[in-house]
Amino acid sequence: MQQKKAYRYRFYPTEEQQQMLARMFGCCRYVYNWALRQRTDAYYQHGQHLYYEGTAQRLTVLKKHDDHQWLNEVSSVPLQQALRHLDKAFRNFYEGRAGYPKFHKKHGEQAATYAASAFTWDGTLLTLAKMNAPLDIHWSRPLPHGCKPTTVTVSKDTAHRYFVSILLEEDIKPLPVVNKQVGLDLGLKSMVITSDGQTYGNPKYFARDEKKLAQAQRRLAKKQKGSKNRAKARRKVARIHTRIADRRRDYQHKLSTRIIHENQVVCVESLAVKNMVKNHSLAKAISDVGWGEFVRQLEYKAAWYGRMLVKIDKFYPSSKRCFDCGHILDPLDLSIRTWTCPGCGTVHDRDINAARNVLAAGQAVTACGESIRPGAVKTKPGSPRRTRKSHS
Ligand SMILES: [Zn+2]
Repeated sequence: MQQKKAYRYRFYPTEEQQQMLARMFGCCRYVYNWALRQRTDAYYQHGQHLYYEGTAQRLTVLKKHDDHQWLNEVSSVPLQQALRHLDKAFRNFYEGRAGYPKFHKKHGEQAATYAASAFTWDGTLLTLAKMNAPLDIHWSRPLPHGCKPTTVTVSKDTAHRYFVSILLEEDIKPLPVVNKQVGLDLGLKSMVITSDGQTYGNPKYFARDEKKLAQAQRRLAKKQKGSKNRAKARRKVARIHTRIADRRRDYQHKLSTRIIHENQVVCVESLAVKNMVKNHSLAKAISDVGWGEFVRQLEYKAAWYGRMLVKIDKFYPSSKRCFDCGHILDPLDLSIRTWTCPGCGTVHDRDINAARNVLAAGQAVTACGESIRPGAVKTKPGSPRRTRKSHS
């Protein structure tokens, strides 16, 4: 089965390439923000829906205006891709996976996506449209031999590092079937607790970085506006931010790969993280562990390797229900880590009991006529099952 897989590398642009990329990023950001305004105004002022095609037609007109000639100085492909990114952001919003699309900021991460017509790949060198030299890529792992990249995304993070993400259609072989099923629960003391009692990832691991971040932020606040020292302090804050993000991503990838390799069926709760973050005492811990991103990784890796991910409805009372007798407790305060079931007297570790319930709920779904197939299964009746192709 052909799957999409992205390979991400750091690269080091020349002075000239940096300037070209800066212009490209600026144009992409401009087009994205312009189209977001167009779509928002179309709806709120005229009650009309404007989709990708509509924005693409308007962009063609916009580029003919005298005061927008600068948009013609860069490759047109990434500008169209910016419209597609916006369209995807709207689709995620319509389908309840994300909030309303936001404007891209000048000081945030910058990116531009090149479709196949806007770059050349000769097997060793990657050259972007309008550039006359290939990118100086640090190949931290090899690309599969003879691959044909379909899309290339270049980005610059807030610590001013450049990355290129190369998307391939790859034939990924399913892993041999294993006879193991597992339920996962999101913990606070540990990132993941499994139904067989294993714990992974201590959020405190990231807390050390956060202390450093808070310190750097305090130093930044004291620096005079516009001073050289302030610029230096801001770069330091950005570097710590990106290091935290890098470490978290690495950790999540290693853990999701391991869990998918070891289990045939993985059951998780499709937590509404957005709702949980509203509870401020929990907010930091939840955003720390990044459950949503972790579940997304499990989902596409399950699809790659022929495993099944079962998502349990978020209203399932996994932590309040006694796994042994089914007794349901009154609301359980988060500070309570172990409890004794009034129904049967079993003493439960809160998180392990929850993980076992998640597994049982997942097994009930797969036993009730849902066919076992690679990818994700949702438990909500009537909702279409979806296998999401994904990147990275
Ligand atoms: Zn019980």
